[in-house]
Amino acid sequence: NSTSANLHVAILSSPGMGHLIPVVLLSNRLATHHGVTVTVLLVTTTVSPPESNLLKIPLHPLVNILELPPADISHLVDSSAKIVTQLCLMVRVSLPSIRSAMMNRRPHALFVDLFCTEALPIAAEFNIPNYVFVPSNAWFTALLAHSPILHQQFSEEYVNQTDPIHIPGCKPVRPEDLVDPMLDQKDQQYDEYLKIGENIPSSDGVLINSWVDLEPETLRAFAENRSVINIPVHPVGPLVRESEPDHHSSELVQWLDRQPDESVVLASFGSGGVLSQQQMTELAWGLELSRQRFVWVVRRPTGGPVDNAFLRVTNGGDGEDSTPDYLPEGFLTRTKDQGFLVCNWAPQAKILSHPAVGGFLTHCGWNSTLESIGSGVPLIAWPLYAEQKMNAALLAEEVGVAVRTSKVVGREEIEAMVKALMEGEEGGRLREKAKQLKKSGAEALKLGGPSHESMCELLAKIGVASRNNVIS
Ligand code: UDP
Repeated sequence: NSTSANLHVAILSSPGMGHLIPVVLLSNRLATHHGVTVTVLLVTTTVSPPESNLLKIPLHPLVNILELPPADISHLVDSSAKIVTQLCLMVRVSLPSIRSAMMNRRPHALFVDLFCTEALPIAAEFNIPNYVFVPSNAWFTALLAHSPILHQQFSEEYVNQTDPIHIPGCKPVRPEDLVDPMLDQKDQQYDEYLKIGENIPSSDGVLINSWVDLEPETLRAFAENRSVINIPVHPVGPLVRESEPDHHSSELVQWLDRQPDESVVLASFGSGGVLSQQQMTELAWGLELSRQRFVWVVRRPTGGPVDNAFLRVTNGGDGEDSTPDYLPEGFLTRTKDQGFLVCNWAPQAKILSHPAVGGFLTHCGWNSTLESIGSGVPLIAWPLYAEQKMNAALLAEEVGVAVRTSKVVGREEIEAMVKALMEGEEGGRLREKAKQLKKSGAEALKLGGPSHESMCELLAKIGVASRNNVIS
């Protein structure tokens, strides 16, 4: 702490809560545990309000969010451009404002999130070290860093491959589990993704939201085999959101308070996940048939109008059945003693840490995954987009903390999985593992723990560079 206390780090974040949340968690960690001053440079868009307005995570006094001028990319692509393309273009358009923000207050190091690697060369103009923050796990980082080499090796679309994709020293990736941008090489999103993989080795190192006990083999492969990634990788996680204050949730918490310990399964699909009408119907029936208690964060299925209001559907009540039209008729009445429905958005971290919750049916976004493990809660992995299929494979096949759904999920499968997780022997084993990881994650972050040490090591290098910078 004493050596890092005078450091100032700028962290560049791409827009979107899924990106800003982990950047803020990293910033708070740097400030709280290492005394580092952090300026978050937030890329903003012309189409949506800055995410920081919605951010409920309290900021440490040493952390400041600076919103960059909105990036207008409407003249570069149409609105059908894929998400990775849009994010990378926004960062490209924002480069001059990133540079001038750094001139106003010169940092000792520049960290950039995954989609901001094009800003890495700005660090050289200031003669400061630069790092890439991948707010996900080591295995995904391995695939990303290895993608430029895979691009040379494969002449055909990856989705046409039958054999798993090999990454030296790491678990192979099945073609059907590959990340979204790798599924169509003709889309601009693939080129942007590849560029990220190419840019990473030009940085001084990578920070990942993982820890040694979660992914020992992949981290060993990084250390022993420089062909995967030839720069230091610092596992500094688990960076997880503490349960947030939420004034709307008292009714839900009261309901949870009345349920036995570890008896409730939470079903939720992240900040953006929506199911199709058919999947919603199957999930509703699956939960009902399982006869297990549940909390379900429901959203209108894809194709339907968007619900914006925070509307809670309480079950039962005055005898009227108020089941929304996208759920099976009478669902709320039939499940009134079994479950609790929340529309659109729920205080997820808070629910997961409640003693009554014993399982999590999730899309496997990395933040959600770590929140679950951080509460010792095993998972049912129902991946939807981004790198979630890899996360599901990692959790089910390597870590042993999840069961994974099949490709097309039916009500019988959901019923069986929920039962097995909440009551079965396998569920018991997964729960044991989740509890063990909860402990090991907490240990990793303690003074002297591997993630804490890894951060100290990185900050020591920045400290040395900043002293040399002053002398030179
Ligand atoms: N989240 C929440 N309430 C919801 C849905 C999501 O608090 O109803 C939070 C969740 O706790 C997590 C983040 O939003 O911190 C979602 O991040 P994740 O990486 O899991 O998935 P993404 O939304 O990026 O797909």
